[in-house]
Parts: sequence; structure tokens; C-alpha cells
Amino acid sequence: MREILLPSGEAVPVLGIGTWGMGEYPGNAAREAAAIQMALDLGMSVVDTAEMYGDGAAEELVGKVLAARRSEAFLITKVLPHHATLRGTIAACEGSLRRLGTDTIDLYLLHWRGVVPLAETLEAFERLQRAGKIRHWGVSNLDVADMEDLVRLPGGQKVATDQVLYNLTRRGIEFDLLPGCVGQGIPVMAYSPLEQGRMLDDPALVRVAARHGVRPAQIALAWVLRHPLVLAIPKASSPQHVRECHHALDVQLTLRDLADLDRAHPPPTHKRVLEVI
Ligand code: NAP
Repeated sequence: MREILLPSGEAVPVLGIGTWGMGEYPGNAAREAAAIQMALDLGMSVVDTAEMYGDGAAEELVGKVLAARRSEAFLITKVLPHHATLRGTIAACEGSLRRLGTDTIDLYLLHWRGVVPLAETLEAFERLQRAGKIRHWGVSNLDVADMEDLVRLPGGQKVATDQVLYNLTRRGIEFDLLPGCVGQGIPVMAYSPLEQGRMLDDPALVRVAARHGVRPAQIALAWVLRHPLVLAIPKASSPQHVRECHHALDVQLTLRDLADLDRAHPPPTHKRVLEVI
């Protein structure tokens, strides 16, 4: 699979799996676990979760799956902003490590910016890194001004990613945040790349999908992944959906496809405040 370099020089696959909503209903657990297993089988090894998801239930599900194959995953979880003080971040990380059944998180993100100063959260991240509890740290839902505040801090340039809402119907970041991150070599991780399933009957997407003989979800993912410094973490909670997402990597969008999609969903021409889901 194509890979993207983190600022540390470590390569990660461009396509992973999200887990928001997983682990919440026991009746779905076997199918969701099978979906994560399938993602690992296919090399979609970036597994994204958060302490927030199901109040830890998603982390517990991920932990069960990774028990036998931890080394195959690039594991991401997130600290809630109201936990993101120096002591709170360390305590939250310990809780995540316990639920995930691992000694180390590969990438630990601040879920969004709250009232705790970024410098304090950064200090916690650095302590966790020195203790070997996290390998990299990053942020989520930070717009341009927040990213500027972050990279101005000592050590702030080591941010591994900004995980943000990005898909064909949410293109605001193309105006400033995305070029700004690219300019600094910071990969952007696209969350909700399928707009949580709501965009899959979009007429332009359906037309392009028909041209390629694939499903709209695959075009939606191929479109996000057309950018060399963007990763995507679709949530697919069945092995079948994971397989379909994986096939997006085989789709080569043409200039005509891109023009059709642009016409239906034009790129931004002015600053838009970063959208969140
Ligand atoms: P998403 O990935 O855009 O969409 C998920 C929806 O798409 C689910 O309903 C899923 O159905 C469906 N789907 C997946 N593969 C499909 C396929 N091949 N064909 C048709 N439908 C398909 O939405 P998301 O869960 O919001 O975003 C992905 C991940 O990003 C999350 O799970 C989470 O890890 C992360 N995230 C982060 C933030 C943040 O603030 N940092 C916010 C939102 C999301 P099934 O479940 O039935 O497969």
C-alpha cells in the first residue's frame, strides 16, 4: 500500500480504519472485530480510536482484536480536551493503554482544543513519549490559527498530524489548512471521509462510480487519497465494507472525473472555518 511519511520519517499506510461507534452493542462486536481483523489483513493498519468512543468501549474492542497482533497495527487514540492537563493527559493515557491492552500507543492525539493551554498538553505528550507510553503525538480539529499557536511552541513542530473532517462535500481545508500543513510536512488525516455514509447517493459520485464500475464509497475514498499528504480512516464495521474501502486504492481518477466532482462540489475560494462533525 502507498505510504505517507510522518515528520519523524516513519512511514504509515494511507488507508486505515476508524472505530467511532464500534464496541457499543455486544450483538455487533463479532462483526466489528472481524472488520478490524480484515483491515489488518489488508494492510490498512492505521487503527483510529478514542477514549471518547463509547466511553472506552471502542478502545476495549480494539484491544481485544490487537491482543494477538499488536505489532501489525499503527494504533491511534485520543485524549479528551477536558482531560488534557498535565496530570489529566497522563491519567487518560494510562486508561487508554489499559483498555487497549498495550504498553505503547503509536500516535496520541488531542481530540480537539479546549481550555487547557496547548503548552501544558504538549508537555504531557513529551513526558509520555520519554516514558515510552506513546511514540508520536498529534492533534485533531485544529484550524489554521490553532496550528500556528501549536507550532510556535517549543517542540510544537513535532506534531505528527492534524486529524480533521475532509471529504468531497467538506472541502474548506483546501483553502488554507491543507496547504499550510503540506508546507510544513505535516500529513493531514481525513476523518469521516464518507461523510458518515450520507454522501454515497451524491449524483456526481454515483456517475463517476458508474464510469469506473465501482461503488460510490470507493470513489469518495479515492478522491480523498488523491492528495499525496492525506491519509483516510473510514469507519467500516463489516469485513465486506472494509474490502470495498480497500479497493478504493485501485481506482485511478481521471481529469474528467476530478472536473465532474469539482463542478458538483467546487473547491473553496475563501476561508471557511474548520468544520467538525
Ligand atoms: P465515515 O468513515 O465517513 O463513514 C462511516 C459510514 O460509512 C458507516 O455508516 C459505514 O457503514 C459506512 N461505510 C463504510 N464503508 C462503506 C462502504 N464500503 N460502502 C458503503 N458504506 C460504507 O464516518 P466516521 O465514522 O465519522 O469517520 C471515520 C473515523 O474517523 C471514525 O470512525 C473515527 O475513528 C474518526 N473520527 C474522528 C473525529 C475527530 O474528531 N477526530 C470525528 C469523526 C470521526 P458500516 O459501519 O455499516 O460499515
